[in-house]
This record gives sequence, C-alpha cells and structure tokens, in this order.
Amino acid sequence: MGGGYAQRPWLARYREDYPADITPEFPSMLALFEASLARAPQTEIVRYFDGVLTLAELDQLSDAFAVALTDRRFAPGDRLATYLQNIPQAVVAVIGTWKAGGIVVSINPMSRQRELTTLLTDCEATAIVSQEDLWDQVAAEVVPNTSVRIAWTTSPLEFQTRQDDRLFKGMERSRPDGTEDLSEVLAATRGREPTAVELGPDDVAFLGYTSGTTGPPKGAMNTHRNVVFNAQTYRDWIQLTPQDSILGVAPLFHITGVVGHLAIALLLPAPLVLAYRFEPAVMLDAIREHRPTFSIGSITVFIALMNAEGAQREDMSSMVKLYSGGAPIPPSTVKAFSDQFGHYIHNFYGLTETNSPSHGVPLGGDAPVDEASGALSVGVPVFSTVVSIVRDDGSEADVGEVGEIVTRGPQVVPGYWNKPEETENALRDAEGKVALKTGDVGYMDADGWFYVVDRKKDQINAGGYKVWPREVEDVLYEHPGVREAAVVGVPDEYRGETVKAFVSVRAGSSVTPDELIAFCKERMSAYKYPRQVELLEEIPKTVTGKLLRRELRGR
Ligand code: AMP
Repeated sequence: MGGGYAQRPWLARYREDYPADITPEFPSMLALFEASLARAPQTEIVRYFDGVLTLAELDQLSDAFAVALTDRRFAPGDRLATYLQNIPQAVVAVIGTWKAGGIVVSINPMSRQRELTTLLTDCEATAIVSQEDLWDQVAAEVVPNTSVRIAWTTSPLEFQTRQDDRLFKGMERSRPDGTEDLSEVLAATRGREPTAVELGPDDVAFLGYTSGTTGPPKGAMNTHRNVVFNAQTYRDWIQLTPQDSILGVAPLFHITGVVGHLAIALLLPAPLVLAYRFEPAVMLDAIREHRPTFSIGSITVFIALMNAEGAQREDMSSMVKLYSGGAPIPPSTVKAFSDQFGHYIHNFYGLTETNSPSHGVPLGGDAPVDEASGALSVGVPVFSTVVSIVRDDGSEADVGEVGEIVTRGPQVVPGYWNKPEETENALRDAEGKVALKTGDVGYMDADGWFYVVDRKKDQINAGGYKVWPREVEDVLYEHPGVREAAVVGVPDEYRGETVKAFVSVRAGSSVTPDELIAFCKERMSAYKYPRQVELLEEIPKTVTGKLLRRELRGR
C-alpha cells in the first residue's frame, strides 16, 4: 500500500485559507472543557426546550456526577453506558464520566434487551444511566454486571422548567429495583470536588459500537486525541465561532452527536440546542425558538424538515451551515432543500472508526456529481488526512479508478475494544500502522474530489442507521418456522435503503411474512427489523453454500 494522495491537491484548489494540517490543541476533552470553562463560564452550553444550562452549571453537575461515580467505586478506565435520548442529562453523564477518568459507552436507546445485553457484556460496563421510558429494557436481570444503575425519572433537573408533554404523556412508571434517581444522586454530592484524574491523548474517551466492515458490533475506541482533533476539524472546516449555535439532532449515542454536536459546542464554546429525539415537530420548534446556525444530520433529517408541517423558509433562515453525513444524499435532495429553504447541504463522509468526518465539502462549496452512479461527491479529505484508493491486490489505484477507500489520519481510531484480530484486519496497514480499510468503494477524480459509489461490506444503510444482515438473520433463525434466511438492503425512497428478508420455511410451517416481521420487531431496534419479508422455495447460494446477497438485492 502506498502513501495515498499525500500531495492533497484539493486543499489549495478549493480553499486557500485552509491549512493542510492541524494539531490537537488539548491533551484530552477534559482539558478542552476546562479551557472553555475558564474562558466563558456563562456560555449557555445546552438549550433544551426553554431550559438553559451554562458551562459553569454543567461543571458543577458533572462534578457531582463524577463524585457520585467514584463513591460507588467506579475507577478510572471503567466503562459507563449511557442509554439515553438527546437530553441534557446525557451531557452531564458524559462530562462526569470523563471527570471520573472513565470511558463512555453510548448506546442507541432504540436497542432492545438482547442488543443492550450484548454491548454491555462486550465492554464489561459497570455503570449505566438510563431514563424512564427505557426502564423495562434495563431491568436488573438484563444488566447483571452493572453495579451502578442510575435512572432519570421525568422529574427534571433543576435548570429545566418545562418538559415536553408530547414526549412524556402518561409515563408514570415506578423506577425498577436497584436503580437510583439521578436528581437525588446529584443533589447528594453537589458541591464536592471530584478527585483529579490524568487523561491523555491515548486514553479512550468513548466506545462507539459499530458492525464495522464485518461481523457483530464492535466498540471502536475513540481516544481523546481523536475527539479533540475532530472537534477542531469541525470548527476550522465549517468556520464555526462562539456566535454560532448547534442544532443537536444527531443522536448523542452516535459519533456524529458526540463529536459533531457536543465536542464542538464545548470547544467553541457555543450553545447546543438539543432535540430530544428525531421528531420533525419538536425539531422545528427548537429551530424557531433557538435559531441555531449549524447542524449535521443524516438525509432523513433534511427530508423530514422539508415535509414538516408548517415549515417555512423564514423558519430555516438561521440554519446557514448545514452538513449531511452517515448515508448518501442524492443531488436531487440537496437541490429540493435549497429550493425550499435557500440553504445548501454540504456532504460529509466518515465512519465511527474515523470519529466523524474524514472527507467533507468545504463550506460554501458546490460538490460535483459522479455521472455514472449519480452520487454526489463526499468532498475532499479533511486536515491532516491521507486517503488511498486501493485495488483488490493491495496496490494503489490510479486517479479515476475505483477501489476501496483507505483512510489515515489523527481521527482514525487505534482499535476495537478487546478485538485484536478485527483491529489487525480493519485498522492496520501492511507495516502495522493505523490505517482504516473502510469497506466503502470509491474513487478520486482529477480535481481531488472523492466519490463513494459502492460497498464491499454487507452492511445495510437505512438513512444513516447501519444494519448488519447477520444479526437480523440470527433472530429470524430463532423462529421455529424458518429454515433459511437471507437479509439484504433494498432501495427505499425515504431512508435510501431498507431491510428486506428472504426466507424459506420449514416443511409444514404456515408462518406468514407479517408474523415474521412482528417476531423481529419485538426483538430488535426499530430501524433493524425487516420491513419486507419474501418467502422463497430456496435461498440462492454459491456451490460452497455462501449466500448470494447481490443476487437477492437485485430481485
Ligand atoms: P457509521 O460507522 O455508522 O458512521 O457508518 C459509516 C458508513 O456510512 C460509511 O462506511 C459509509 O458506508 C456510510 N456513509 C457515511 N457518510 C456517507 C456519505 N456522505 N455518503 C455515502 N455514504 C456515507
């Protein structure tokens, strides 16, 4: 494997004011937090409905959280799982965990019990913070090894004056045994200083679970260096300043939320307007009330905004710096959004393993389109990033030639949690240096723009949510009527792709597609279960028994 397109022609060509390289300014996210706190303690760092949390208040709450963890024998390097929607408590938990020297494991709140158990077991989390509407998933038997279980009830933290009734109506469940109430926990330790911890650039800030290019979910070890570097990348690439404010629509359990919303808000510092979850009406209210200027979301966010009832051009007038990532966005969607609201959506590309972007369209840029596939360019590599396009035999492709995208840079994670073999396969080059084989297939054109045109990996991309087909197949196989199952992604107007299962049934079974859909729905996250099931006599396979997914995709 060669050195990639190290000359970086795109930088000079597109932005004379962009530096080629940037270096992390802080050893850790904690040092970054302290610097912003010292500079601008009264910054309204979180805005949530009509509640406001300043940096100084966040500092006090996260101190209290860190002390509470340490009191409960949570030690530096321990893992705390956040299983939360986008709420201010998630921000307190993340900063508080870092203050206690811990690693945050951010888990999708859509995860069902079996998914949650898999992740908690893999990372051996000893603490979990969750919220009322998810309690039935966090029952003691599901998380047997987590000795610290802290739950958020609908009682708000002190800075919140209003909850959104649309979201919490009728929700009065009693807290499960063995959990503690977050507000009470924080009240008890308020005012105590946490023990000082040393966090360095190589310490892990959080684990982002991803199926990666192969197999079951793995925890990508996002280090403090990765996060600090990418916070700066956002700031400098998009030219964000403390006068900006950020619409937090991307989930805080995903790398895009942690870095593209939270880390950049802390770095500037500037307000993060949190949207509880992806809900068009709530999002639109937040935009009208708080007038954010920047957001990064997936294509589904932009389509939802275009379809949101009553959304006017004027509502969106503050949102001048818009980025889309996590999934392809067709040029037609970019144009339709621009026609409706007058703002251009810039494409950003990256993976959990690159801690958010490795490529982006420069602010104000107009990305070209690949004629053959119709794909909008994902932009050019961001600062300090070297990208190769690699042929199947490992040699470097020519300009314009399609191959696997391999990325090197300070944002690439050093490995997967406790998975040396997967780390070696996906995250090392022939010389043993950190290099990410993305599993995405693309090319660079003569002007330095990159295009993603296909995938080597089996992953399904449902509007940014990634589905690993094997996981869905494993659930289908648990149904007594299923003889064989094969799961693929099929085109979908809203999500780009959606999950479809082909199933052959056992002799004598009368199971129907609807029953199989319901069976899966009960057992997995809402974005994962198959929306379509087609029954086949036989699932097409190679002579060696390998599933012919490509053939199925085309059916
Ligand atoms: P995740 O690890 O969830 O961030 O998913 C990363 C994957 O999402 C990449 O490997 C791509 O397949 C896909 N992806 C991310 N951004 C884009 C983009 N702008 N265009 C096309 N695919 C994208």
